[in-house]
Amino acid sequence: MAILGKRSVQNLVGVHPNLVKVIKTAIVNTPYDFTVVEGVRTQARQMMLYAQGRTAKGDIVTFADGVKNKSNHQVKSDGYGHAVDIYPYINGKVDFNNAIALKTIASHIKSVAKQLNIGITWGGDWKKPFDPPHFQLK
Ligand SMILES: [Zn+2]
Repeated sequence: MAILGKRSVQNLVGVHPNLVKVIKTAIVNTPYDFTVVEGVRTQARQMMLYAQGRTAKGDIVTFADGVKNKSNHQVKSDGYGHAVDIYPYINGKVDFNNAIALKTIASHIKSVAKQLNIGITWGGDWKKPFDPPHFQLK
């Protein structure tokens, strides 16, 4: 049994109620505790992430420039963000390097979404970008 931590609750503000419902239901019986590290993203932040690996240091993390091609983390015309990024929370901290735990959590979240009849997509099922912390509404 787990409950959402303060950081997760804050990061769900502005996220579409259907996705919030999936996350809130999933946390209860999750095989590993998890933290929502990001929900709604501003255009400025999306542009900064897009610059990474292009005009700024680091690896490419997104193909959405934030302007012409918006991320699902950005607020849509319905007023909500449609994506969240999640990492396992193990031994008192967010674990960014536990691919197995993240995959196990993802399977759980997918089955919860299915039970709730809410269509979601997991970034870990993508090839480019392979984005395992990412979940979005279909
Ligand atoms: Zn994401």
